[in-house]
Amino acid sequence: MKQTLFFVLFIFQLLCLSSFQPPETPPLKSAVPFANSITIEELKTTLFTFSSDSYEGRYTGEIGQKKAAKFLKEHYQKNGVLTPLGNNDYYQEIPSLFLPENTKASENVVAFVKGSIKPEEILVISAHYDHLGSKGTKIFNGADDNSSGTVALLEIAEAFQLAKEKGLGPKRSVLFLHLTAEEQGLYGSKWYVQNPLFPLKNHIANLNIDMIGRIDDTHLENSNYLYLIGADKLSSELHVLSEQTNKATLNLTLDYTYNRKNDPNRFFYRSDHYNFAKNNIPVIFYFNGVHEDYHLETDTPEKINYELLQKRVQLIFYTAWNIANREIRLTINN
Ligand SMILES: [Zn+2]
Repeated sequence: MKQTLFFVLFIFQLLCLSSFQPPETPPLKSAVPFANSITIEELKTTLFTFSSDSYEGRYTGEIGQKKAAKFLKEHYQKNGVLTPLGNNDYYQEIPSLFLPENTKASENVVAFVKGSIKPEEILVISAHYDHLGSKGTKIFNGADDNSSGTVALLEIAEAFQLAKEKGLGPKRSVLFLHLTAEEQGLYGSKWYVQNPLFPLKNHIANLNIDMIGRIDDTHLENSNYLYLIGADKLSSELHVLSEQTNKATLNLTLDYTYNRKNDPNRFFYRSDHYNFAKNNIPVIFYFNGVHEDYHLETDTPEKINYELLQKRVQLIFYTAWNIANREIRLTINN
C-alpha cells in the first residue's frame, strides 16, 4: 500500500516537474558541474586578497586601483580567459579628461568568453572594482562594495571558460566588464557605452553586480534573499527567465522592494547598469541592500557571508547561462 502510494506520488512529481519546465529554458542540467566550480573557498580567498590593505581602497586612478586592475588581468590570464581586445591587453583606458577634476586616468578591465553560435551577440556581466581609497590611516577596503561583485565576475568567467573547454561553451558571447570610477558617478560604464567594444545594438543584456556578500536588517530571519532591480523594466522576458531560473536552481527569495516605481532610494539609477538601461539594453541589478558598514572603513572581508555569496553567484551564473544559450535573443517590450 505504502509503496503504491509512493509510486503514484513519484509519477505525479515527475509529471509536475516536466510540465514545469518552460519551453524557452535550455537544459540547465549541463550547467550544474560548472556552477559547482564556484566554490566558497575560492570566493573567500580571492575576496580576502582583493579587499586587503595592499590595494589601498582602490581609489580611481591611484596606485591601489592600478594594482587591483593588474590582479584582475593576471587572474584571467592564469585561468585562460581571453580578452576581447587582443594582444593580451585587458585594459580599456579612460583618459583623465573624461573623469571628474583631479582624477587621474584609469581603466576598465575586460575579459571575454566567445560564443559558439552567435558570437556577435554579447551578454555583459559587470561589477565596479574601484572604491573610496583611504583617509589618513583609514583604508576603505570595500569588501562588500564591491569586492563581492568583483570575485563573482572572476568565478562566473572561470565557470564559462571551463564549460567552453568541455565543449559546452555559451552560444552567445559573454563579456566580463570590471568598471572603474563608479563611486565618482558611474564614469566607467558611461565611458563603456560611449566607446563600446562591440556595436551597442548587439549587447543583449547587462547583469550588474554591486554588493552581494552581506545581509541587511530586514532579512535577518530569512537570509536566503537577493534584491533584483530593473529586470522587468525593458524586457518582461528577462524577468520571466530570471524567475524561472531561480525556481529551477537556488530558489532564493527574490526581493523586488527596490524595483518599485518611485522607490525613494532610487537604486535603479545608482549603479552602472543604469548606463546600459539608458541605451535600451535590458538589465538586472543584483544587490544585498545597505548595512551599517556601507561606505565605511569597517566594510571588511570577515563580515561577508560566504555561503550566501556562493548561492547568489551561482544564481547569477545560471541566469547568464540561460540568457546566453536560449534560442531567441531576449526581446524588448513594445
Ligand atoms: Zn558599489
